[in-house]
Amino acid sequence: MKTNKMKKRPSIRWTLLISLFLLCAITITILWLCQNLFLNDIYKSIKTTELKEAKEKITRRIANGELETAAQAIANEYELCVFILSETNQFTSVSVHTAGECVLHQIDTMGYMILYNQAIKSQDGILYYVKDENANRYIQSQKNEKGEQSILLVCTAPYQNGQAILFLNMVISPVSATVKTLNTILLYVTIVLVLLSILLSIVISHMVARPIVAITKSAECLAEGNYSIEFKGSGYAEVDRLANTLNYAKTELSKVDRLQKELIANISHDLRTPLTMISGYSQIMKDLPGENTPENLQIIIDETERLTSLVNDVLDISKLHAGAKHFDLKPICLTTITEKAMQRYAKLTAGGYHISYLHDENLFIMGDETRVLQVIYNLVNNAVTYTGADRKVTLAERRCGTFARLSVIDTGDGIPKDKLNDIWERYYKVDQTHKRYAIGSGLGLSIVKEIMKEHGGRYGVISAPGQGSEFWVEFQLVPDNEPLPSLEKAQ
Ligand code: ADP
Repeated sequence: MKTNKMKKRPSIRWTLLISLFLLCAITITILWLCQNLFLNDIYKSIKTTELKEAKEKITRRIANGELETAAQAIANEYELCVFILSETNQFTSVSVHTAGECVLHQIDTMGYMILYNQAIKSQDGILYYVKDENANRYIQSQKNEKGEQSILLVCTAPYQNGQAILFLNMVISPVSATVKTLNTILLYVTIVLVLLSILLSIVISHMVARPIVAITKSAECLAEGNYSIEFKGSGYAEVDRLANTLNYAKTELSKVDRLQKELIANISHDLRTPLTMISGYSQIMKDLPGENTPENLQIIIDETERLTSLVNDVLDISKLHAGAKHFDLKPICLTTITEKAMQRYAKLTAGGYHISYLHDENLFIMGDETRVLQVIYNLVNNAVTYTGADRKVTLAERRCGTFARLSVIDTGDGIPKDKLNDIWERYYKVDQTHKRYAIGSGLGLSIVKEIMKEHGGRYGVISAPGQGSEFWVEFQLVPDNEPLPSLEKAQ
């Protein structure tokens, strides 16, 4: 069936392509934002942190008595310009320059004192400068100013018995040139990523969509009634599982289809025969008054009963399958019910059948009496129909763990091994050629199966060609804590 009415959805290929494009776009936007908006700030805050780190280190080393070596080492390590003023014993100054021209280059000794006074008023003792390209000198600025910057940190540190004033200057080269280069690289990366995502989406969607398209084609063939079609996996776990499930569904569908075709053939035959008999005998009885005999009437009654039971079977199984039948499970005596069922076959016994019932004790089960009776009738009817020339049918009842087992044994032709499972299917008959009176609706055993399932019981058959059959059912015994019904009540 074509799904024309289904809302048009994007294909896997498009979904993949769009997803990969989106991924590219998000990645590139984040990179671009970081590069163009935040790189300057991130770079400056890293440098400021380094400057503070350098301050901590140099302060520690000066406290240990080092001055020049400390200034030299820290200046080299952090690429700083360091100027230290100390007034201990005698006025000394240390000046180390590593970072080219900086703020410290453009001031004299008095200028340091002015700087010191400004810095102690600022946050963390830090002052920011930006290079005025025209005058080729640094002028004080705000933190987030663009261009070549100088960060100056001024602080005091204990040295010998007095104090030393430290001036640490770090030059920050502008990132705009770097950003430009990075942007060009980013452009190439974007082109490569876009091409890659197109290629990847084609490859992946081809790999993913191909098996799905193949399975869809097979499913369309199946929908048209071609049960020989095979669903093939693709090496992906999910698709393999789908193919396996569809193969299973196909087998089940073909089974149902075959059984339904057989049913129509069987039922129409089974309905036509009694109807022909009824109409034929009625006609004769109407036309020939001498034929209006009880025997002929009995034939009509028998055929009507056959029709009724056929229709009832069909109704029962469909209701059981739809779960519409209500089961009233309560403690009942299986032995009493079986004895009750046996009364129905008394006439057959008189007609040459040997039907015996073997049991040692009364067994109480959890069950629905009407349904349990139906199970017994269906099994005994089959045994009577299929038993051998000796017309022997035996019912045996015994305890089997927490179950009561009832076996119905006949001496008929038995059932081939490969058919033992199929006979429980709806409408299945081992012998497809119609032998009148030996043939039922093909529903009896599937009704037994459904009823046993509803009872939480078990069922089965032991049979081999030429050796008769033993059909058995097992009902759960009444649990020990459950009160047992009196036998009169069970009857
Ligand atoms: P039916 O109404 O045709 O008997 P069932 O569902 O009761 O339908 O049985 C299905 C098939 O199982 C029968 O057609 C028959 O071929 C086989 N079968 C059932 N009971 C026996 C038996 N006691 N001996 C041999 N074959 C049996």
